[in-house]
Amino acid sequence: MVDLILANEPLIRMACFGAILLTIGVWEAAAPCRTRAFSRWQRWPNNLGIVVFNSVIARFAFPVAAVGTAAIAQQNGWGLLNTTDLPPLVAIVLAVIILDFVVYLQHMMFHAVPALWRLHRMHHTDLDFDVTTGARFHPIEIVLSMGLKLVVVSALGAPPVAVLIFEVLLNGTSMFNHGNIHIAPAIDRVLRWIVVTPDMHRIHHSDLPHETNSNFGFSLPWWDRLCGTYRDQPERGHRGMTIGIGQFRDGRELWLDRLLVQPFRGDIGPYALGHKPEQWIDVPELQAKLAQNSDEVLIDVRGPDEYVGELGHIPGARNIPLDELPNRINDLATEQAKSITMICKTDKRSAAAAELMRQQNFSDVRVLKGGMEAWIRHDLPVDRQ
Ligand SMILES: [Zn+2]
Ligand SMILES: [Zn+2]
Repeated sequence: MVDLILANEPLIRMACFGAILLTIGVWEAAAPCRTRAFSRWQRWPNNLGIVVFNSVIARFAFPVAAVGTAAIAQQNGWGLLNTTDLPPLVAIVLAVIILDFVVYLQHMMFHAVPALWRLHRMHHTDLDFDVTTGARFHPIEIVLSMGLKLVVVSALGAPPVAVLIFEVLLNGTSMFNHGNIHIAPAIDRVLRWIVVTPDMHRIHHSDLPHETNSNFGFSLPWWDRLCGTYRDQPERGHRGMTIGIGQFRDGRELWLDRLLVQPFRGDIGPYALGHKPEQWIDVPELQAKLAQNSDEVLIDVRGPDEYVGELGHIPGARNIPLDELPNRINDLATEQAKSITMICKTDKRSAAAAELMRQQNFSDVRVLKGGMEAWIRHDLPVDRQ
């Protein structure tokens, strides 16, 4: 029986994928949680296209998949569990749980290491959150995680059946917890003690960096609670929160061709845990940023009379005097995920203001080096109204 299951592994996995996709898809149509920002026609062919692309790449890169590796390890007695005499059922359960913990740690690494974040970022740039988001990963991320999985499966000596169960389970829970489905809060509360629910994982797709960097679990919800990365609800509610990240917010970015090259485009952004954003920005750098990205938020912290005075201000800069900033910081809540530059006459008040902003969870705040005096020295346009 086990041999029969293992021999038909690709077929079993594909059938499960199709059945779960259909089930969650129907569920999404019947009881949606959020209104879609984009039609399915815009996203589904691209998100499912990448699934096909990834399956082909994985077949070529790894002729022996994870289950095959587990079988080879078992025949040769490699790996921890193959050297112990545990009852088969215990070994299977243990292996599934350990593999799930490895996936949690791996997901954290993909958020922590800047280069890995560039790859994983593509999962987070989906501007809606539904069942197809759950299968939308960059091919290089798929190859890297497959490589890691083969190493862990061999070192652990995971039984082949356990690996198959784990893969089908991960695939299924990933599609379930990305579902745009409404589950009553009372049921969700109970459910999320045993499995990661859509309401739990949706927080991970918030555009606020501190929410993106929480709820890393895919199948089992325990790791987030044990490791302190658990977040119960999104600050702006499930219907009010913004899905995606600050970068790549144009509808064109949802197309397959853009998805594939996204890791190599744009700067790293404020999300990667291991990325310390530059504290300072000089005039030419800011000028270049303004030329290519109109999303940059400019905040001038001088008094109103200086703002319209002799030095004037950078066109588009908002005036929030330093002493008013603590009270007005809430007005900026929608800009929390954006790139912000603080400006004053030199750079003393703006540096103090930037520190204040960082304490309030604004993660990408820079200070214009030399302030307005430097801006004027470069002979750049100013407004005086
Ligand atoms: Zn993630
Ligand atoms: Zn996700």
